[in-house]
Amino acid sequence: MPELDATHDAALTSWVSSANDGATDFPIQNLPYARARRAGTDEPWRIMVAIGDQALDLAAAVNAAEHTDAQAAALAPLVRGDLNAFMARGPADWQLVRASLSRALADGSPAEAVLAPCLIAQSALEFSLPCAIGDYTDFYTGIHHATTVGKLFRPDNPLLPNYQWVPIGYHGRASSIGVSGQTVRRPLGQTMPPGSTTPQFGPCKRLDYELELGLIVGTANALGEPVPMAEAESHLFGVVLLNDWSARDLQAWEYQPLGPFLAKNFATTVSPWIVTMAALAPFRAPFTRPAGDPQPLPYLDSAANRATGAIDIALEVLLETAAMASTGEPPVTLSTSRWPEAAYWTAAQLVTHHTVGGCNLQAGDLLGTGTLSGPTPDQAGSLLELSMGGKAPITLPNGEQRTFLADGDRVVLRGRCSAAGAVGIGFGECSGRIAG
Ligand code: CA
Repeated sequence: MPELDATHDAALTSWVSSANDGATDFPIQNLPYARARRAGTDEPWRIMVAIGDQALDLAAAVNAAEHTDAQAAALAPLVRGDLNAFMARGPADWQLVRASLSRALADGSPAEAVLAPCLIAQSALEFSLPCAIGDYTDFYTGIHHATTVGKLFRPDNPLLPNYQWVPIGYHGRASSIGVSGQTVRRPLGQTMPPGSTTPQFGPCKRLDYELELGLIVGTANALGEPVPMAEAESHLFGVVLLNDWSARDLQAWEYQPLGPFLAKNFATTVSPWIVTMAALAPFRAPFTRPAGDPQPLPYLDSAANRATGAIDIALEVLLETAAMASTGEPPVTLSTSRWPEAAYWTAAQLVTHHTVGGCNLQAGDLLGTGTLSGPTPDQAGSLLELSMGGKAPITLPNGEQRTFLADGDRVVLRGRCSAAGAVGIGFGECSGRIAG
């Protein structure tokens, strides 16, 4: 896993002044990647790195500055706007570029004069997906979510016996993944109303979000060659926020025996900025199991994973209804949670388990964590849990009530890391709105 180095130095500041205010998600210690262009233009998508409220256009920056041969080779895919090809080059090149960007953007850098014209205000940008996502897997690592939802669907048997042994997941749909700002059409589908013997067809009535993180695979493993725990994190490039939109009424009728299908495949939204594993290095935490729970099988265990396998990311879900938007009210917080408290398995365990049978991961693959609900009911990462299966409406500060999402509702996910001795970093926003 990435080590602490000069790029994490809490004393480091940038000549981009908005990066130094202590509140920004994007201080010089973060340096996340996105694919963007000036909003409203048909310019080609370009790879950008966030710094404060600005974005550094890497194609312009690379053309403006001098480089060693090694830097030029590492930067070439970024100049082409191809983040997948950059990720596929591996951790040594990721580190080379991170160190170069950190030096170039630091206070006192001689590169300031040539790089300042390569900055664009983030508010002037529109984003695409940060990379081409070939395959999408959604795991189910949120044990509090799994237990609460299990009680709703199977009161007698909430947590199935495999849960403590196998990182549960399913292969999702990549084509309907969109970037923050996505508008989601309420899906149509089959539902079986309670007490009925014939399904109905029509618009989903129990539309929901799921608060998740998404792991972006950087380097591939060959088909038939599992990734051991010791190498798992070197295959991960970074982390995004992920909203796994869910049609609960469709899900309840279709999910047995093979799991989610149309209840999940109509839309998934991710945040535009990939926060790199390197940037997350100061925020590592131990992987622990509740007393009495089984320890992972040896192939899912390592000393490094036990010591620092978790990453402490504070997560938040906010809601803005159409009425709130029309009166200019800011989004209201629905819940907060933390990744290590919510998840039963670590990022490394997900990579190792995914590949243990020989499955090959590829650059740009997306691994969702599953809904990251905290241990208490108010920390739930979905409306299904917050409204207790739709039985207990939640009341918003303006008096509106929700069991599930209404047309015009906008859901915003946020994430933030902080630790003693480190400069806090964040993920920006992952927002999506229900059409209507
Ligand atoms: Ca999910």
